[in-house]
Amino acid sequence: MLKKRIKAFTLVELLVVISIIAMLLAVLMPALRKARQQAQKVVCSSNMRQMGVALQCYLQENDSHLPDSSCHTSDPNQYWLKILIKYLKQDLLFKCPSDKTENFVDWNKPLCQQPADSRWSSFTLNALLDSKCSRFNGRYNSVKFIYKPQHCIYVSENPSSWTSADHIHPETWGYNIKIAKGQIAWDRHLKKSNYLFTDGHAETLKIEDTYSWPGNCFWFPEAAPAWPADD
Ligand SMILES: [Zn+2]
Ligand SMILES: [Zn+2]
Repeated sequence: MLKKRIKAFTLVELLVVISIIAMLLAVLMPALRKARQQAQKVVCSSNMRQMGVALQCYLQENDSHLPDSSCHTSDPNQYWLKILIKYLKQDLLFKCPSDKTENFVDWNKPLCQQPADSRWSSFTLNALLDSKCSRFNGRYNSVKFIYKPQHCIYVSENPSSWTSADHIHPETWGYNIKIAKGQIAWDRHLKKSNYLFTDGHAETLKIEDTYSWPGNCFWFPEAAPAWPADD
């Protein structure tokens, strides 16, 4: 009597199949990761564009004056994040999808009730544009006076270590890109980062393209794009 042959994988066949799958995964994973990072970059830049629309609405209602950072204002209701939220109605827009930190504040609750090391947002404001900025006596809080609004950065992305703060001081960088890199999440999106300019447009750029000398400086309202103009 013939023994009925059971059709099954041999151990060798199984190992070959497993190794082929592993090899395919190894080849595909980096591509998939890159595709995901690319998608997150697009979402972040689209969120920033929505912030830009909110900003335009605010500017129209406030004689072209920009919302302030917390630098010279003690009332949290006057902080730019609080102000723009009113126009966005979605505080999620203040969190970059590539920002993996979890300790964000809940802007619907008072700040004083939340842990001191909370992250206010994935984004920070350029304090040189504050209405009480001593360097320019607040002159550039009005977009009308900014040399080239399309070349002046208002909001940038901050590193994950940036807690309890909503602004940066580009005047302290001293033309040193290394210092700038410590305050900007310059590599959050595939060695680039998103920036919102004072004319309301958003751009994905390498930090070197925003702060190169001689060349472009998109951080100083009186100098952009040529700089330095201050000394
Ligand atoms: Zn400050
Ligand atoms: Zn982002």
